Amino acid sequence: KLLSTQSLPTITSPQIMHTPILSDHRRKKIVVTGGAGFVGSHLVDKLMMEGHEVTVLDNFFTGQKKNIAHWLQHPNFSLVVHDVTEPIQLEVQEIYHLACPASPPHYQFNPVKTIKTSTMGTLNMLGLAKRVGAKILLTSTSEIYGDPQVHPQKEDYWGNVNTVGPRSCYDEGKRVAETMMYSYKNQNHVDIRVARIFNTFGPRMHPNDGRVVSNFIIQSLQNKPITIYGEGEQTRSFQFVDDLVNGLHALMNGPYDGPVNLGNPDEYLVRDFAVLIKKLTNSASEIQKLEQTKDDPSRRKPDISLAKEKLGWSPKVKVEDGLQKTIAYFQGVLDQAGEIIPT
Ligand code: NAD
Ligand code: UDP
Ligand code: UDP
Repeated sequence: KLLSTQSLPTITSPQIMHTPILSDHRRKKIVVTGGAGFVGSHLVDKLMMEGHEVTVLDNFFTGQKKNIAHWLQHPNFSLVVHDVTEPIQLEVQEIYHLACPASPPHYQFNPVKTIKTSTMGTLNMLGLAKRVGAKILLTSTSEIYGDPQVHPQKEDYWGNVNTVGPRSCYDEGKRVAETMMYSYKNQNHVDIRVARIFNTFGPRMHPNDGRVVSNFIIQSLQNKPITIYGEGEQTRSFQFVDDLVNGLHALMNGPYDGPVNLGNPDEYLVRDFAVLIKKLTNSASEIQKLEQTKDDPSRRKPDISLAKEKLGWSPKVKVEDGLQKTIAYFQGVLDQAGEIIPT
């Protein structure tokens, strides 16, 4: 027997977030690939709160629906479950191209797919940008500098990358993605932006992301051993996600189209970072040293003078303040999940 619509249970729609109503000439159609991921979802929040029409393209390899759940009912928001290695036709004015797994365990899980995502995915987004005359921003990475022999790293450093190691699928994929961006600019006059992002952390990192910040916090909150790969003598410089989102936005909306480092130069030895997180979480965890991973860059720190000069941008959030927010987030995730065993 067919149900009449009157007899169906009423679904109360969740509250729709209030966003500004922009005039037609100010409201842009913006695509964010990888918009259900950690960085992408924060960027989506900013663009939606400005009143733009945002379309997320994501295949949910590492993205989470809950990162964008608060927008699903909003009339300015669209979600297209789509793999960027496949072509797509859309009408759009700006493309923030983030789609790509970013943590070493994720991008090494299926290296061939990682290469396809960076190469075919970027090609498709550039083809789309060319066809519709859209501006396109690529989220490249500090990994294009490899295990750097110059410190701190400036944009004019060409890098030191192994072409056949475990990290190569990601590093070389991003390097060729950058090359494609400049080829489409020079040959087809596509308006491009390239951000070289350094280690970024914050709420909405995937609990099984496997990167150092989420691992150390989740381990500390559960009083489980904090796993250091190697002696912990390697360094990283950590940026809070809100600063990165502001940097991406400034880059997209400014005229400068060379590659730009976006990161926080606040540099830590990994072993000191473990102690800091243990302190901030009041944890009883012990520190456990595991085998060093192959080709792990030994030092990394951005020189951000170009971003300061060209974008008037610099990070504003102190690492410890960002960590407190991230710890609170993961505490909430743990309260719901009960237990998390990080990658
Ligand atoms: P993330 O893994 O949280 O997000 C990546 C998103 O891309 C996910 O939602 C995933 O499902 C999606 N995706 C992956 N492959 C796809 C495909 N083939 N088609 C469609 N969607 C796909 O990672 P993140 O930290 O948010 O990183 C976002 C971007 O920033 C990436 O391009 C990454 O290389 C770059 N980046 C990040 C950092 C960092 O520290 N977070 C550093 C340097 C560069
Ligand atoms: N492409 C796309 N959407 C578009 C336009 C192009 O996905 O709106 C893809 C297209 O399928 C191709 C890639 O982008 O694989 C590069 O396009 P381009 O026009 O530069 O190259 P061509 O199609 O001539 O090889
Ligand atoms: N690392 C670690 N323990 C972990 C995860 C990472 O000691 O549980 C180290 C890793 O070897 C690297 C640094 O922390 O030297 C940063 O690793 P991450 O995966 O966060 O990012 P990467 O900068 O290497 O891409």
